[in-house]
Amino acid sequence: MTFKALWATKTGDTVSVALSSLEDDQLMDGDVTVAVDYSTVNYKDGMAVTGRAPIIRTFPLIPGIDLAGTVESSKSPDFKPGDRVVLNGFELSMSHHGGYAQRARVPAEWLVKLPDSISSKDAMAIGTAGYTAMLSVLALEHGGITPDRGPVLVTGASGGVGSISVALLSKLGYRVIASTGRAQEADYLKRLGATEILDRATLSQPGAPIAAPKWAGAIDSCGGQTLANVLAQTDYRGTVTACGLADSMDLPAAMHPFILRNVTLAGIDSVNAPQSVRAVAWKRLASDLDLAKLETTVQEVGLADVPQVAVDILEGKVRGRTLVDVN
Ligand code: NDP
Repeated sequence: MTFKALWATKTGDTVSVALSSLEDDQLMDGDVTVAVDYSTVNYKDGMAVTGRAPIIRTFPLIPGIDLAGTVESSKSPDFKPGDRVVLNGFELSMSHHGGYAQRARVPAEWLVKLPDSISSKDAMAIGTAGYTAMLSVLALEHGGITPDRGPVLVTGASGGVGSISVALLSKLGYRVIASTGRAQEADYLKRLGATEILDRATLSQPGAPIAAPKWAGAIDSCGGQTLANVLAQTDYRGTVTACGLADSMDLPAAMHPFILRNVTLAGIDSVNAPQSVRAVAWKRLASDLDLAKLETTVQEVGLADVPQVAVDILEGKVRGRTLVDVN
C-alpha cells in the first residue's frame, strides 16, 4: 500500500523536507498500525523541519511530533481496529517516523485512547502544545494554586501552549494575565478568557531579582529573561511552570524568589510523560477545554504547507494552533 508523507533528508548540514509517496514496508517497527487523520505544527516541529535544532536524529525520517487517527491493525491486546488514538512525543520525529503521513506504525505503549468527546481533529487542534498546557495546569493545581489565590500569568500567550493555557485557566475560574508581544492579538486573547494583557517587553529586559508580587502562579513557555522576571514577581508560595524556550534556553535568575517567597519552579516534559499522567491530562482536556474556544485558535493546512508554517512558528508569527490534515 502506498501513502503520502513528508520525507526529511539531510545533505551536509542542510535538512530538506519534501512531499513523497511511500510504501508500507518503509514504516518502522511497532505493534499498532494507525490510519492518521491529523497532525499539527508545534514549535518543536518548526525546529525539526527547518533543521534549526537537531531534533531529527535518523535520516531519512517522517517528521511530526504528534498524530491522531484510528487503529487499522494491532498485535497488542490493548488496542483493536477502530480504536481512536492520539500520540504525543516519545521518539516521533526523533528516531521514529512521525505524524506528517497518512499512516504510522508505532509501539502500543506510546498510544493513548481518546476520550469519546474528543475527535481526532479536536485532539490535534489541542496537539502537543495543548496537552502540555494541561500538564502545566495540573502542575499549578499540584502546587495549590486555586483561583482564589490570585491571578495566573501566561507568557507566549498567543502561541500554541499559551492560547490553550489561557482557555483552560479561564474555564477553571482563574483570572488570567496574558503576556504577548503582539498587541494586535489582545482581542483574541480576551475572547479566550484573558482578563488582562501584558506587553511581553515588560518581561524581556534584565530586572530586579525580586519585585512586587503580581501573580499567584504562571505558565511560562519562554524561559530566559522572561522566566527570570516572572519568578521575581510571583507571590508567596506561588508556582511557576516552565515548559519552553521561545525566549531562550538560559535562566538568568536569582535565588531570592525561592528562599524569600517559597516559590516553586515546576518543570514540564510532555515527551516522556508516563501513560498515567497522559491519561489524566487527556481526560481533563475533555472536561475542561471549551471546544468552541479551541476552534478560534486553529488554522488548518495540508502536508505541503508544513515547511512554511515551520518557518513562521519559529519567527513567532503563528497564532494559536496549526492543524495538519494529512489526507
Ligand atoms: P508557539 O510558537 O506557538 O508559541 C510561542 C510563543 O512565545 C509565541 O507565539 C510568542 O507569543 C512567544 N515568543 C516568541 N518569541 C519570543 C521571545 N523571543 N520572547 C518572549 N516570547 C516569545 O510555540 P508552542 O506554543 O508550540 O511552544 C512554546 C514553547 O514550549 C516552545 O519553546 C516549545 O519547544 C515548548 N514546548 C515544550 C514542551 C515540553 O514538553 N516541555 C511541549 C510543547 C512545547 P506572543 O507573540 O504572544 O508573545
